[in-house]
Amino acid sequence: MGKEPQVIVPDQYPDFLQWLPNSEKIIRYDKHKDGCDWTLQHADLIFCLDFNTLSRTGDDMAAALGASPVRKVLIDHHLNPDVDAVLTISRPQASSTCELVFRLSWQLGLFEQATKHFAVPVYCGMMTDTGGFTFNSSDSDIYFIISQLLTKRINKDKIYRNVYHNYSEGRIRLMGYVMYERLVYDEPHHAAYFTLSREDLKRFHFVKGDAEGLVNIPQQIKGLKLSISLREDTEKDNLIWVSLRSVDDFPCNEVAARFFNGGGHLNASGGRLNCSLTEAVRITQQAIQAFEEQLK
Ligand code: 5GP
Repeated sequence: MGKEPQVIVPDQYPDFLQWLPNSEKIIRYDKHKDGCDWTLQHADLIFCLDFNTLSRTGDDMAAALGASPVRKVLIDHHLNPDVDAVLTISRPQASSTCELVFRLSWQLGLFEQATKHFAVPVYCGMMTDTGGFTFNSSDSDIYFIISQLLTKRINKDKIYRNVYHNYSEGRIRLMGYVMYERLVYDEPHHAAYFTLSREDLKRFHFVKGDAEGLVNIPQQIKGLKLSISLREDTEKDNLIWVSLRSVDDFPCNEVAARFFNGGGHLNASGGRLNCSLTEAVRITQQAIQAFEEQLK
């Protein structure tokens, strides 16, 4: 359309997304700070995609975005949008930001001219944000959208394989190890949690993305309502990354906000703790106790 778009991401994104068309053109903020800062100062328009507050992009990029005089358009599906934008398209009920990007292109009458290079990432984002259409995906519109994306000749089975059958040997063994050795199942509370220590991660040659989805596995236990993953940062001491998943109307985002300095969606949330892994386990147990009534 005669525009010169530039896509900037805060830092490394998982290996299992590197195959996406044009991903080689994406610029990492942490690697090319100066160039990105220039773009953020001089662009005509900035689209903020898939985050509700600048802080979700990390300290450095958030500061650069905050200092940018450029008009912003927010397109997002997280709760509580808080970005100073000239246009805010916030739809927490949407499956994913990719779904919103599709809807925009459709409503602007642009979808017809879109190619497979548009359809593949849009499908991929909808698929990953719904766990392969297994949660938050009962809106019939989603399947209309998929049927439209298929007209662009995307191979949805291949997209699935590229994402979910793309693990390293280390990741598969890490998964087995964690579920066998580290999973704590609190049966009376229908809750489970596990730890990923720095040592364990090293042992299985952890690379970013390897822990993705592990938190979903305990949800396969019959009747489980809440699953929590506690992962030690591989570099910074006393930094624990927390992921939470829940089912039905149990609000794991409330648990994330109250106990883990985080938030997110009703059934998929995250946060972080500045403490040891042992302390994080104690906080997790407290959290489960505090939500005892709702977990019954
Ligand atoms: P994940 O467990 O996949 O890292 O994150 C699940 C969901 O929780 C995502 O939608 C993500 O945006 C949200 N989330 C993860 N970490 C945080 C956090 O620190 N704060 C907030 N508000 N949301 C988070």
